[in-house]
Amino acid sequence: MTRDLAELTAPLRDAPGESAALFDVDGTLAPIVGDPGRATVPVPTRAALRALAQRFGLVACVSGRRAAEARRLVGVGELTYAGNHGLEVLTPGDEEPTLDAGLGDRGDAAGDFVLGLGREALRGAGLRLEDKGPIQALHWRGSADEEAAERRAGEIADQAERAGLEPRWGRKVLELRPIAGVDKGTAVRRLLDRPGVRQALFAGDDRTDLDAFRALRELVEAGRLRAAVCIGIASDEAPAELSEQADAVVASPGELVEMLRALAADGGSNTDRPSS
Ligand SMILES: [Mg+2]
Repeated sequence: MTRDLAELTAPLRDAPGESAALFDVDGTLAPIVGDPGRATVPVPTRAALRALAQRFGLVACVSGRRAAEARRLVGVGELTYAGNHGLEVLTPGDEEPTLDAGLGDRGDAAGDFVLGLGREALRGAGLRLEDKGPIQALHWRGSADEEAAERRAGEIADQAERAGLEPRWGRKVLELRPIAGVDKGTAVRRLLDRPGVRQALFAGDDRTDLDAFRALRELVEAGRLRAAVCIGIASDEAPAELSEQADAVVASPGELVEMLRALAADGGSNTDRPSS
């Protein structure tokens, strides 16, 4: 862990029982691969997360994937999983996720809209549909003409907005959400809405993670948290805002694991700092 990271995370290491560590999954814990279905969290990362879960008050993943899929991918049952950007939350030991009450009768709105576009037509435009229940996602990573597919996605986003859905852009993906105001920020707020958590960190690699950064900062401003640390994971596709808004940037998911190990290690910040 760099000196910078060690100093930033000192409040968490000093009081691990009152600390929460929250992680995006794809591109943060799981290295990005061409086919998201083949993404996996490396064994050393799993071990570090398991150790951290024993030490910290809360360790959770906040993903755009469905909660059960995030749990399967990360492979650590001791963690809490907020899936579909917080529309569903899966706690350790539970088989079924809890759905956000705000969803109301909008659960099928995005699915119905996408059905109207036609699966064949989407495929023809180079867009791969991912059915995530209440959220529908269109991917164009690896399609024959990624630029053309992205242009078509732009048209669909406008159309979806007129249909009352909320379009959100990620790395070569357009998500259509059934209700507005659902993002990783609301997911983080819900996860941290529990007594005893006074410090939190969030690590992410993408634009959608900026909502989580913002939520942590607002919780500090409101006095709900004593300290918050926002960590960006660098990549060729990372938006410029990520490094601007992060407190620190690590070079890769691999470098993040080193930080996890240091956080999970015994001893407060004083023992971890290099003596000079
Ligand atoms: Mg990500």
